[in-house]
Amino acid sequence: MIERLGPPLDQPIFDELAIIGAGLIGSSVARAARRRKAVRRIVLADRSEETASRARALALGDETTRDPAAAVRNADCVMLCVPVGAYEGVARAIAPALKPGAIVTDVGSVKGAVISTLDPILPAHVHFVPAHPVAGTEQSGPDAGFASLFVDRWCILTPLAGADRRALQQVRAFWEALGSNVETMSANHHDLVLAITSHVPHLIAYNIVGTAADLAEVTQSEVMKFSAGGFRDFTRIAASDPTMWRDVFLHNKDAVLEMLGRFNEDLTALQRMIRRDDGDGLFSLFTRTRAIRLGIVALRQETALADFGRRTADEEETEP
Ligand code: NAP
Repeated sequence: MIERLGPPLDQPIFDELAIIGAGLIGSSVARAARRRKAVRRIVLADRSEETASRARALALGDETTRDPAAAVRNADCVMLCVPVGAYEGVARAIAPALKPGAIVTDVGSVKGAVISTLDPILPAHVHFVPAHPVAGTEQSGPDAGFASLFVDRWCILTPLAGADRRALQQVRAFWEALGSNVETMSANHHDLVLAITSHVPHLIAYNIVGTAADLAEVTQSEVMKFSAGGFRDFTRIAASDPTMWRDVFLHNKDAVLEMLGRFNEDLTALQRMIRRDDGDGLFSLFTRTRAIRLGIVALRQETALADFGRRTADEEETEP
């Protein structure tokens, strides 16, 4: 395995970290924090016995429980890694058990709704630092996580007005220890940016795969057989966790609807260009979009390898 995380830290950033939700993101945080010695002790909580026992078997934490309140009792930092629709229940369960001075943070893909839900429930004696690591895969569960998930990815912090500076600094240092670049912005801005870079693309993927599945004239086996024509890449995104994504759309409604409105206008313009044989218009748009892709590669958010960055098994094996 390629070691891209860096050597263990001399001093842990937190003494005890409680991670609520041992899925893709929670288990990746646990693996990375342990590898870098970013925390001294990790306690995991998950609601189902199946996931909790898997987390134990994988030795993701020093302790794993199904009781979120028990998990946070001694924690200096508590990180919510459950779907955003589950935040309220989890917050109500942990609120009475939180230690004075503890930091409560999260990884949720939407921020405005998360703040509106958590802020009134969390006690005044904790520091709340909302966060979103912009890193993930279409997989879910504790087996899907890996330590280098956050390396070279961005983590966005959306602190509330008057946030505790030390708490903010510690959360920033934690994500940097996991290999991320950290940026701070308002929750509203975050939700708008992520609506166009992540949420609407997922919706388009869910829609195009759904449309193909419902086609009467083309068989399902043809859709799969000829998928390398572009469809295959949509199916990867459309395989993303249904619970997590249902919650994202229900909790970032305004920004997603705003971006979808613009998307529909642009799609109509494209439709018109095709109908009117406007080759110059199509060529000019496709040239601009290609430049965006090159920019993403230049910023190291994607590789320049052919075939959409997929590596063959041979390339994996020869990786230094
Ligand atoms: P995941 O792999 O499905 O893990 C979610 C975990 O939360 C599971 O262990 C699940 O437990 C637990 N959970 C679900 N509902 C719960 C509830 N009502 N109460 C307590 N625990 C519950 O999902 P994930 O991808 O790690 O996503 C977790 C969070 O990360 C979400 O808020 C998501 O928006 C955010 N995020 C995801 C990505 C991504 O690409 N996947 C990227 C950045 C941020 P069980 O296994 O027992 O059901």
